[in-house]
Amino acid sequence: TMEGALTARDRVGVQDLVLLEDYQSETAFLHNIKKRFKEKLIYTYIGSVLISVNPYQQLGFYSPYHMEKYQGVNFYEMPPHVYAIGDNTYRSMRNEASDQCILISGESGSGKTEASKYILQYLSVCSASNDNVEHIKGRLLQSNPILEAFGNAKTHRNDNSSRFGKYMDIEFDHKGAPVGGHILNYLLEKSRVVHQASGERNFHIFYQLLEGADEELLSRLMLQKTPDKYFYTSQGKCAKVSSINDRRDFLAVQKALKVLEFSPKNIDELLSIVASVLHLGNVSFSANEEGHATVDREHEIQKIANLLGCQFEQLLQALTHRTIEANKEKMESPLTVEQALYARDALSKAIYGRMFNWLVLKLNGSLTSKNDVIMALITSQSQDRMRKNVIGLLDIYGFEIFKSNSFEQFCINFCNEKLQQLFIELTLKQEQEEYRAEGIEWEPVEYFNNKIICDLVEERHQGIIDILDEECLRPGEATDNTFLSKLEETVGKHPHFITHALGDSKMRKTIGYEEFRLVHYAGEVTYSVKGFLDKNNDLLYRDLKVTMSVSKNEIVKEAFPATELTKLKRPETVGSQFRTSLNRLMDILMSKEPSYVRCIKPNDAKMADRFDETLVRHQVKYLGLMENLRVRRAGFAYRRTHDIFLNRYKSLCPETWPHYDGPSRKGVDVLCKYLDYKEGEYRLGKTKVFIRFPRTLFATEDAFQIR
Ligand code: ADP
Ligand code: MG
Repeated sequence: TMEGALTARDRVGVQDLVLLEDYQSETAFLHNIKKRFKEKLIYTYIGSVLISVNPYQQLGFYSPYHMEKYQGVNFYEMPPHVYAIGDNTYRSMRNEASDQCILISGESGSGKTEASKYILQYLSVCSASNDNVEHIKGRLLQSNPILEAFGNAKTHRNDNSSRFGKYMDIEFDHKGAPVGGHILNYLLEKSRVVHQASGERNFHIFYQLLEGADEELLSRLMLQKTPDKYFYTSQGKCAKVSSINDRRDFLAVQKALKVLEFSPKNIDELLSIVASVLHLGNVSFSANEEGHATVDREHEIQKIANLLGCQFEQLLQALTHRTIEANKEKMESPLTVEQALYARDALSKAIYGRMFNWLVLKLNGSLTSKNDVIMALITSQSQDRMRKNVIGLLDIYGFEIFKSNSFEQFCINFCNEKLQQLFIELTLKQEQEEYRAEGIEWEPVEYFNNKIICDLVEERHQGIIDILDEECLRPGEATDNTFLSKLEETVGKHPHFITHALGDSKMRKTIGYEEFRLVHYAGEVTYSVKGFLDKNNDLLYRDLKVTMSVSKNEIVKEAFPATELTKLKRPETVGSQFRTSLNRLMDILMSKEPSYVRCIKPNDAKMADRFDETLVRHQVKYLGLMENLRVRRAGFAYRRTHDIFLNRYKSLCPETWPHYDGPSRKGVDVLCKYLDYKEGEYRLGKTKVFIRFPRTLFATEDAFQIR
């Protein structure tokens, strides 16, 4: 138990970091996590926040037996565990009839997705059940292999890296049984479809299809088994990964698609799209005498047209020409080879990205509780029986600082900046509310509010996103470098913005001519402006959109609606879209009671039992954990209900032992006075006792042990 572990604290450290004597010391913090990690204790709390260190080995505490163990127990009576977070969340939802969310963050490979799967599994096994919900539980669990096949890839950091952000609501009825779910996806890394760094792969599904499809399917899709035949799957030169079994995973995906009731036709179309992207990657162009692009092997285009259900002639034309309108007259303008390659890749990314969105939409349809429809018809249902509550699970990319950072890192780090703001706001709010509920006076805490950085990025008209959008409106004139100049003009004086041209001279030397640096809450990140305009525009030539919109492949047709072509307004940029969807996410999260899992990667080698202190120190910083601990410790380090506290320590005082049958608050009062707790060291709230310093508690615990 919590209290039991206190005595072993020299060996395994404290299991709640609020009990660290020197809570300001990063070193003490690190050593505590390290000590526990060496004992294979990967979980540690900061109050109710769970820290999880990726063990890179299968540990024995995820069995049904353990799930059982964590059900309905007091949060602090068992060792820290993600199941405890799951259980506590589920219980709060049921007891308070309130919506909950669990925010999981950490850098790539730190164990976020695994944690979210353990939580989903726990909720599925341990929530109320009946025959009706068994199938919905199955669907919730089966949505994972599908999303991972299409949205995950092998990277340097993680063999199963999620290349999109994911928020999933699980809906429960008034009896606590899961009845449905809903998924929101964020910013899929589409560029991976057309390019992979050496040692990395494209999305799993490509290799799964090539490895797992039978002869008949392969021949229908006109594919050869070998990934190295395809440009889009061979650039990374690592199609085979020892930790991945593509063939088995493909079977799992096919099974999952069936469980989620995708029709054979839909599955067929889905795989045709995947295959068409592989073929598209192999389309090459040569320049004719006039320097215009022509397709090298037209039969490749024929295959693609077949698979996508579009016209051969139309596709061929759209890949090598674009229609321009001048003086109300339409003209076919031939593309250069460079432009044609750009168009080809843009098409591949667009098809894949839109197919992914379609997939999520379809999954959501399949996860919608059928009861909704029936319930709406039965008007006699009481409000209470109609009541639904949700638990949201957020598994989203953590802060990224690479050697070279681009638009993608800019978006991801902006996202983390927003989440940090939410975290600080909600943690403070939670603390404040507990104090109020317990009738204890609130002592204000000083903290760094990163709203100033969020504003720098997202503010209307003068934030970085809008400045970028403005440049994107000046095609032909604007470049990545004019964007940088605009930034310097507009936000150059901002305390969190630095460039080569601005800032003190020592700092300037370390920033390139085509870079800007942001001072994030987690540290400074230098971004290269190269590609910002292009990536923000995410342009697909209209001719290709037209070709797709009349496709006979239903998924393609749905993904490229003809209505999009008639809209005069230019499509929203990637940056704006991301800002909008993030702000919506913030509203969703704000309306719920949050719990946190903060994941840490112990080493870069994906190895068991290796704890790289420098690496972990950085993450403790990026995750804002010291700030978190400081806020939590600003008031009282330890708090427990009067019942629990009295039960454990009553034997230390003759007035509460062996006989005491008064109210437990009174008992704790007597006990604390007898133990000589000083005025400022503790407070008695309505239901809990608050102890300011760990040493007070440790002294009591030691007395208890030697009693
Ligand atoms: P993230 O989603 O944060 O990028 P993942 O959850 O995909 O990271 O974890 C990366 C890998 O680390 C997993 O594929 C798995 O091999 C290992 N791993 C993560 N969490 C655990 C865990 N709790 N127990 C065992 N292995 C884990
Ligand atoms: Mg992941």
